[in-house]
Amino acid sequence: MAKKVTNHPKTSKGVVWQKLLDALYADIGNVVSNQKLIKVSGQHNYARRVRELRAEGWDIVYSASPTGYILRSTNKTAKNADVYINFKLRQKILERDQYICQLCGHRANEKYADGESVKLEVDHILPLKQGGKTVEENLWTLCTRCNAGKKSLLDYPETVKNRIISVNLPDDIRGKLSELSLKRGETINSLILDAIRRGIKKLK
Ligand SMILES: [Zn+2]
Repeated sequence: MAKKVTNHPKTSKGVVWQKLLDALYADIGNVVSNQKLIKVSGQHNYARRVRELRAEGWDIVYSASPTGYILRSTNKTAKNADVYINFKLRQKILERDQYICQLCGHRANEKYADGESVKLEVDHILPLKQGGKTVEENLWTLCTRCNAGKKSLLDYPETVKNRIISVNLPDDIRGKLSELSLKRGETINSLILDAIRRGIKKLK
């Protein structure tokens, strides 16, 4: 017997999610055909709803033959949800970074020297594997080439690391820090650390 595996709010989307989950759960581990999913959900954009369920952390995989979807576990993982950079967040980061690759400075729709068009991606600064989170402060815009070449934060030159940290600082503080950094010949990183250390001492 199919039992409910979650309770979504009673929005129309939530109702469709629940119907799809129920149908998948009733046949857990097996392919549920597209026809059946269309029938239970009553709509043809069920594939989109399935993708949303997946983004929420449900372990649902696509099957090409026979065509349909398989629910592999009754447990929803929080992990997938954390990994997912939703459309709104993606857009916010691209706008913050002014659609410019934060490593090489190429803009969206420009061309590289060899004529290939620049494509931008939103990427985790500290990789998820190293404990990075899907939050604004840990996301930045990279072009596909820079993203492919990126290994870890530690591989970046000092100047780029400074930029990473200063990216989210208010303009006045960022300006002041670059000024000080030039004057004293210290990196922005060390200036920020000094300021934090002094701040912590005062708190005691
Ligand atoms: Zn780039």
